[in-house]
Amino acid sequence: MGGKVLIADNVATNRIVLKVKLGAACYSPILTADGTSCLAAARSESPDLILLDSSLPDLAGIEVLRRLRADPVTRDIPVIMISASRDADLRLEALAEGADDYLGKPVDDPVLMARLRSLMRLRQNSGEGAIRGAALRALGLAEPPEAFEGPGLISLVASRRDCAMRWRKELQALMPDRLVVQSREEALDETGTIPDIFVIDADLDGAGGGLRLMSDLRSRAGSRHAAVCIVRGEVGGEGAAMAYDLGANDLLPAAFDAREARLRLRNLLRRKRRADETRATLQNGLRLAVVDPLTGLYNRRYAGAHLAAMAERARQTGERFAVMVLDLDRFKSVNDRWGHGAGDSVLVEVARRLHANLRPGDLIARIGGEEFLVALPEVRGPEEARAVAERLREAVEELPVTLSCGGSLRVTISVGLAFSLEDHALRTEPVDEIVHRADSALLVAKSGGRNQVTIERSAVA
Ligand code: GH3
Ligand code: MG
Ligand code: MG
Repeated sequence: MGGKVLIADNVATNRIVLKVKLGAACYSPILTADGTSCLAAARSESPDLILLDSSLPDLAGIEVLRRLRADPVTRDIPVIMISASRDADLRLEALAEGADDYLGKPVDDPVLMARLRSLMRLRQNSGEGAIRGAALRALGLAEPPEAFEGPGLISLVASRRDCAMRWRKELQALMPDRLVVQSREEALDETGTIPDIFVIDADLDGAGGGLRLMSDLRSRAGSRHAAVCIVRGEVGGEGAAMAYDLGANDLLPAAFDAREARLRLRNLLRRKRRADETRATLQNGLRLAVVDPLTGLYNRRYAGAHLAAMAERARQTGERFAVMVLDLDRFKSVNDRWGHGAGDSVLVEVARRLHANLRPGDLIARIGGEEFLVALPEVRGPEEARAVAERLREAVEELPVTLSCGGSLRVTISVGLAFSLEDHALRTEPVDEIVHRADSALLVAKSGGRNQVTIERSAVA
C-alpha cells in the first residue's frame, strides 16, 4: 500500500528500529527527533500518518497533537500516539485531542502494522491526503469545510441483547449521538438510515461472527462507508491485527471504559464524516467537470467521450447510431432584442424540451453557445432518426417561450443529421467525422431557410 509515515521520537534507536520496520513494510519513513521539527515536517511533507511519541524534548506530545489538529493543513492526518506512560488520564487526553489511537510501550508490532494499514486504507478510500488536495485544485474546487459535528447514529450489535443494552446505557449518558441496539439482520437492512458507526461484538453468534458481519456490511453499497468498531476480549495480539486487516476502524476491549469508548467513537465519527464530505466534494467536482451549469445538460467534453463509447458499442453489435447537431435560429437577435438574460432562459427552456423528447439511452449535450448535440444509439434507419429530429424541431417551435420579465417569444432550431457508416467502415471513422458530417448537414438546413431538418447526403443515398 505504501505511504509516508512521519515518526517523532527523541530516542535515536527507537527511530531507527521503526524506520527499519516501516521500510520493510514498504512505507517511506520520515524521521524527526522533537516536536518542532515534527510540526514542520507534517506541513512540508504531507505525511499519510504520524507516529508521535508522548515525551519529546521541546514540546509535550499532547501539545504537538493539539497544534496538528488546530492547523487546517495537518488537521486530518491520522496520528497514533505512542507512550511509555501508564497514566490513564494521558491516554484519555490524547484521544480527546483527536489521536486516532494511543499505544503503550512496548508496542505490539503486528497490531501497530495492522493499525497503520487500517488508517491508511481509510484515508486512501476516501481520497484524502496529497492526491485529494491536487485533484481538488486541478478541478478548481476548494477543500471541503470543517466536518459537521452534530449527533451521529451508532448501531450496537452484540450476541446478547442485554449486553448491547448495557453498552448503550453506559455510553448514552456521555454522548449526544443516537445509539440503537440492533440484531445482525437489522444491521444489514439498508432500507432506513444507515448508521455512521457499527459497534460489533467480535464473537457475534459464535466465534468470528462479528467479523463476518463486518465483511457483509463492507460489501454493501449502503453501509460500505460506515465506520466499524469491533468489541473483543482484548485489543492486542494476532486476533486484533486480523480484525483491523478485515476492515475494523477501531477496537474496544469487552470490558471497555465508557469514557475512552466515547472518545474513540467521537473520533471515528469525525473521521467518517470528513471522508463522506471528501467523497461528496469529489463526486460533485466530477459532475461539474462534465455538466453544463446553465442547462444541466452534459458538456462538449463529456459528449466526446460518450460518443466514442457509443461508436465502440455499435462496432461490436453492428447497430448504427445517429448524430444530430441542433442550432437555434437567429439567436443573436434574441439577445439583441431581449437581452442576454432572456437569451439564457430561452436556452434553458429549449434544453428542457429537447431532453423531454428523448429516450433515457439517448445522449444530449450542449456543445456550444446555442448549439446542442443529440446521439441516438441503435437506430433502425434514417427515417426513424429523422422522425426524432422532426419531433425535437416541433417541440421547440410549437409553443412560445415565456420569459420571466413577462413577455414571450417564438424560437426555432435547425437540425443536421448524420449516421454512423455501415459495419467495416465504422472501424476507422472517428466520431469527430460523424459530428462533422452532421455539422455540414446543419449548414444546408440553415441556408435552406432554417427551422428544418437536413439529413446528410450519404445517409440518403
Ligand atoms: P443562425 O440562425 O445562423 O444560427 O444565427 P444565430 O444568430 O443563431 O447565429 P450566430 O452564430 O451569429 O449567433 C449565435 C449567438 O448565440 C451569438 C451569441 O450572442 C449567442 N450565445 C451564445 N452563447 C450564449 C449564451 O450562453 N447565452 C446567451 N444568452 N446567448 C448566447
Ligand atoms: Mg444559431
Ligand atoms: Mg451556432
